[in-house]
Amino acid sequence: MTHVVIIGGGPGGYEAALVAARLGAQVTVVERDGLGGSTVLTDCVPSKTLIATSDLLTEVESSAELGVEVPRDVRADLAAVNDRVLRLALAQSADIAGRLDREGIEVVRGTARLLSAREVEVVEASSSDQEASGAPRVVEADAVILATGAHPRVSPDALPDGERILTWEQVYALREIPEHMIVVGSGVTGAEFASAYNGLDAHVTLVSSRDRVLPGEDEDAAELIEDVFRERGMTVMGQSRMASVRREGDQVVVTLTDGREVVGSHCLLALGSIPNTADLGLEDVGVALDDAGFVRVDRVSRTSVPGVYAAGDCTGVLMLASVAAQQGRIAVAHLLGDAVHPLDLQKVSSNIFTSPEIATVGLSQRAIDEAGLHVDVVMLPLATNARAKMQGVRHGFVKLFSRRGMGVVVGGVVVGPRASELIHAVSLAVSASLTVDQVADAFTVYPSMSGSVAEAARSLHPR
Ligand SMILES: Cc1cc2nc3c(=O)[nH]c(=O)nc-3n(C[C@H](O)[C@H](O)[C@H](O)COP(=O)(O)OP(=O)(O)OC[C@H]3O[C@@H](n4cnc5c(N)ncnc54)[C@H](O)[C@@H]3O)c2cc1C
Repeated sequence: MTHVVIIGGGPGGYEAALVAARLGAQVTVVERDGLGGSTVLTDCVPSKTLIATSDLLTEVESSAELGVEVPRDVRADLAAVNDRVLRLALAQSADIAGRLDREGIEVVRGTARLLSAREVEVVEASSSDQEASGAPRVVEADAVILATGAHPRVSPDALPDGERILTWEQVYALREIPEHMIVVGSGVTGAEFASAYNGLDAHVTLVSSRDRVLPGEDEDAAELIEDVFRERGMTVMGQSRMASVRREGDQVVVTLTDGREVVGSHCLLALGSIPNTADLGLEDVGVALDDAGFVRVDRVSRTSVPGVYAAGDCTGVLMLASVAAQQGRIAVAHLLGDAVHPLDLQKVSSNIFTSPEIATVGLSQRAIDEAGLHVDVVMLPLATNARAKMQGVRHGFVKLFSRRGMGVVVGGVVVGPRASELIHAVSLAVSASLTVDQVADAFTVYPSMSGSVAEAARSLHPR
């Protein structure tokens, strides 16, 4: 029986473990903090739970348009919200533990490092707390999967104190809605939290070092969300690079590189992630890392050392829970000799959970331009959609990209409420290489937002 040892119990690790067990391997998962990893305990699940409350309040704001008078002082009780966030995260982690247990997977609570490609040193945590206890033991493995994730980047000039200067892992300790939250960093994480706290009725300043928010995302979507942010009272500061953050009593002061200062009650640092690859023994074993410390992998999750695979954020391939899980599954299929489908990033769908949401799949406009592809594009505002009008939805669009001549759908962007759900139709089309005619021919419900996906496809009918 092949013994697979997996270091890290996030989606990269636990999905690999489940597939490996089903394929008949003996599986050991070593996890330091809790099953589900950062995804479940500090990042994805907690942030989306917080956003669920923020979305509800944002919807309530527009209730007057739908003929419902709601008292003006509707406010979230952040202590209750954050208690719920943490409860749900722990429950999700327990669910995953239950699944692994039912599949006969051994889970060791502790910290692991590689001694060789076939030997993993494990220092188990004591049962009472998370401190390491006891002598390290060595676990023999036929194959190892590294799925150790990443942690928030901080700067020596902006050190979190856990009270007012915060990483995204620390915000759930807040008991009251911040009066003025300064979010530094306007990538996906910064934009999501800025949107969330804006929805929770905090004053929000979003400090962005670039011209616009969400650099790297679809330009029309980024422009739309920046307009919506401003319309909702958020202060968006473009071309503003943070130099330092300091605390002054009950205030935080963010100093920009041009000397300007922004004063608020709290500051959330969203400066990107650093891979958890230090102290893993990787250099000694010969596992190649890139300059930023990410594990180099190929499309079937192999590292530079035979028998050692890597999945998820520690590889930096595309920092999404869904990609981590897929890389883990692919690693297992490869190492156990099952049918392998190499990772195809052109089929990944992802979502930015701002309000409205921004969902994308397949080729982006930038990728199309860089590759010089002949592609037709259509962008249909949701404002023309009957269901959107009924629901008071004013912001959003459906954008589709199709190969000129053949009409094969190669990508799409949906901006709107629940765009994360709407994108699935486009994702199916991209994944199955459907033509715009096939997408347009499939019935959609009338009235429905998905009607706009079909209508966009119809307007791209090859002539
Ligand atoms: C705020 C935020 C929101 C996000 N929202 C989304 C989203 O909505 N959708 C989405 O797809 N992605 C989202 N992501 C990204 C997603 O969280 C990551 O891509 C995902 O966590 C990667 O999973 P992973 O398995 O690689 O790592 P992780 O989930 O980080 O798990 C790694 C685990 O390894 C453990 N570990 C590390 N070193 C060791 C060691 N030496 N020994 C034992 N254990 C170790 C850690 O304790 C950790 O539990 C979000 C990220 C952030 C920061």
